[in-house]
Amino acid sequence: MEFAKLSLSEWIERCREFSAPYCLTDAKKFRLKDVDPGDTGELTSEDKPEAREALVAGVEILAELQERLYAQDRWAILLIFQAMDAAGKDGAIKHVMSGVNPQGCQVHSFKAPSAEDLDHDYLWRCLKVLPERGRIGIFNRSYYEEVLVVRVHKDLLKRQKLPPSLITKSIWDDRYEDIRNVERYLVRNGILIRKFFLHVSKKEQKRRFLERLDNPDKNWKFSAADVRERRYWDDYMHAYEEAIRATATKSAPWYVVPANHKWFTRLVVAAAIVEAVENLHLAYPTVSSEQKKELAAARAELMAEE
Ligand code: ATP
Ligand code: MG
Repeated sequence: MEFAKLSLSEWIERCREFSAPYCLTDAKKFRLKDVDPGDTGELTSEDKPEAREALVAGVEILAELQERLYAQDRWAILLIFQAMDAAGKDGAIKHVMSGVNPQGCQVHSFKAPSAEDLDHDYLWRCLKVLPERGRIGIFNRSYYEEVLVVRVHKDLLKRQKLPPSLITKSIWDDRYEDIRNVERYLVRNGILIRKFFLHVSKKEQKRRFLERLDNPDKNWKFSAADVRERRYWDDYMHAYEEAIRATATKSAPWYVVPANHKWFTRLVVAAAIVEAVENLHLAYPTVSSEQKKELAAARAELMAEE
């Protein structure tokens, strides 16, 4: 692999090839069990150092693209991250966005909804923090929890204060449809959407939990609730599969990213984002002849000072 030594355009082409196998734009027949969480594509653990270098290159490209995004102030980018606990959402977000100007990037983590959240429709808390034009918005969990954790634990649905007549058998299909429609609306408004499911295996999650228990510096990351959620693993996998099937679209694709190897996960995520943003063909705003005159006048004024 010669990833790190590539020119910009070669890198971008590589990003396209590299992320494409994990991208779903139409997933009606998608089966989660066909995706191996331990997959590292054409790479092996020997490629790890180079993969890390490639990630650094990707992060630099992303930083450059984000400058243009900000200057142009037309598009916004929404990146959604979903995963089981300890799949590496936080680390992926941290590494992939590490080069980006903090002013151009907004991260929101969605935990269990507050009383105020529950007094509104379920999209409310997410829609009010959508990224502004020129910004990258990251949702660490999202409204997808409404068809994941809420589907796995149906008592959560009861707490949502919905009129009982609206809680029907088709509620999940209704939600998928609403999510598809809202995402289409956002895309039509210039918000580019990319969704990532970091797919870790149950075995690897156990290993990471044990590591959190064994290592005092990682104890803070451990929550007993996470082990309880593990019991519902199969229900979660079913809910993820159904949600991905119903909401992977051409304009708002899902990436199902193997997540047992963090170095690989991060590279796929970075490549997918670079590829998507590059497709916008962002350029710095051009200066009109009128503006050029203004700039010349400003220069003359500065030069005329003592
Ligand atoms: P970390 O554990 O790394 O801090 P996290 O995203 O797992 O990150 P937690 O505070 O552990 O954060 O968990 C948030 C919990 O909130 C998750 O179990 C998630 O399923 C739950 N949650 C998120 N959105 C909703 C929702 N709309 N309804 C009910 N529960 C939700
Ligand atoms: Mg957690």
